[in-house]
Amino acid sequence: MDKSKLICELAGIVGRDSVLSCRRDLLVYEYDATPDVSMPEYVVFPRDASEAAAIMSVARREGLAVVPRGAGTNLSGGTVPLKGGIVLALTRMTEVRSLDVESQRAEVEAGLVNLEFQGFIAPHGHLFAPDPSSQKVSTLGGNVGENAGGPHCFKYGITTNHVYGLEAVLSDGQVVHTGGAAEDSPGYDLTGLIVGSEGTLAAVTSMVVRLMRVPEAIKTMLAIFDTLEDCGNAVSDTIAAGIIPATLEIMDRPLIAEVESSTHTGYPLDAEAVLLIELDGMKEELEGQSQRMVEICRRNHVRTVHVAQDDAERDELWRGRRVAYSAMVKLAMGSTVHDTTVPRTKLAETLRQVRDIADHYRIRVGTAAHAGDGNLHPLVVYDPRDLEEVERVHSADKEIVRLCVAMGGTLSGEHGVGIEKRDYMPLLFTEDELAHMREIKRIFDPEGLLNPGKLLPLDGTT
Ligand SMILES: Cc1cc2nc3c(=O)[nH]c(=O)nc-3n(C[C@H](O)[C@H](O)[C@H](O)COP(=O)(O)OP(=O)(O)OC[C@H]3O[C@@H](n4cnc5c(N)ncnc54)[C@H](O)[C@@H]3O)c2cc1C
Repeated sequence: MDKSKLICELAGIVGRDSVLSCRRDLLVYEYDATPDVSMPEYVVFPRDASEAAAIMSVARREGLAVVPRGAGTNLSGGTVPLKGGIVLALTRMTEVRSLDVESQRAEVEAGLVNLEFQGFIAPHGHLFAPDPSSQKVSTLGGNVGENAGGPHCFKYGITTNHVYGLEAVLSDGQVVHTGGAAEDSPGYDLTGLIVGSEGTLAAVTSMVVRLMRVPEAIKTMLAIFDTLEDCGNAVSDTIAAGIIPATLEIMDRPLIAEVESSTHTGYPLDAEAVLLIELDGMKEELEGQSQRMVEICRRNHVRTVHVAQDDAERDELWRGRRVAYSAMVKLAMGSTVHDTTVPRTKLAETLRQVRDIADHYRIRVGTAAHAGDGNLHPLVVYDPRDLEEVERVHSADKEIVRLCVAMGGTLSGEHGVGIEKRDYMPLLFTEDELAHMREIKRIFDPEGLLNPGKLLPLDGTT
């Protein structure tokens, strides 16, 4: 169909102010938080599932690709519209459709920002456990798309553990409902299949999520270690002692240096690692637990361990971790970050080897880790104009991923596969296993229009 007629048809569905098609407007939607770029032909903002369904039907008729998009903060190239087509921007679907505090359930629309939702339920004494560090801007639909995690997910689980049901639009324009408000629903777990499918199976328009009570008390402490091994051993000993902290965040020396240069949090520059520990639960049990944590750190030769005495101190301890990503990337024009996961016991060794790789390729890497689940984020900064450096970064990236898989780990703990890690999938899955995944994709999306080129290695059909 002629482009102007198509724009009129899309505007007829959502209104003229909800369709973007001129180059200047589209530029913003050609990228996400990765270096990959590709321009869409249209960006359309539905306000409900029926509008999203009508857009999907038009796209199917016209053979146009559709890329569901929230805030575009993903770190895997997940919203780059590789085949042009339509970006389905869910950011105007921001309602909390229902809130049932007694049953600890809410139905929320996909475009609602995570932190805004937290703000909505906080006065009711509840929280939504998935708390990606991007929660100020990332949407609940994007959290579902990537099966996002966050600092508190070690204790409480990742997004999939907090979603009971979905309203979603399929590639043929049908609106379907999966799961529900109950703990379990019979039949295949389609909710589980769609969560984390990175917009390749369906566009989620709303979800039923689990709410949790805000813990009665929180204890936050910061431990400074002279070796990565001592820090890693303190993490392992903590879990072995039956303590499940809400957060166990490691930052290594190069990252500490970047954070200190921009924020002055007081982290010592000569420490090999800082460990941010947060315990939550009933007030009485926390006293004993925090004492045991201090003992564990001491047993592992901690240099100092400081327990925050009030909310202001707690905020101060968190400040460095919160700004770690921006402190690192603001220094360079280009950056990449991995989110590979290794068994917890291999974390210290892996962090050390990541540093060796960085030295070998002469690149700048600072690493943060959600230590509880062995999820590490080596942040690489570089100058994209320096093609020789870019080459070295690519080689180092590959080695880091291979290292983590060889350590018994996986490609992505939370950021998704997208374009960035698509070609590493054969490191983890056999051809047969990938063929089964392609079959699932074909059942949901026979024409291959939903977010093409993501998640699965290219085989000519994806
Ligand atoms: C500074 C920074 C810190 C971060 N920290 C974390 C972290 O701690 N933990 C973590 O997990 N991630 C983190 N991320 C990555 C990212 O923010 C998360 O993956 C987040 O969940 C993406 O949400 P979004 O709204 O930006 O989604 P987008 O980037 O817009 O989309 C992400 C993926 O989901 C799909 N998608 C989006 N909306 C829908 C929908 N409604 N239906 C179906 N598919 C959809 C997209 O097609 C895409 O594949 C961080 C990113 C940055 C930049």
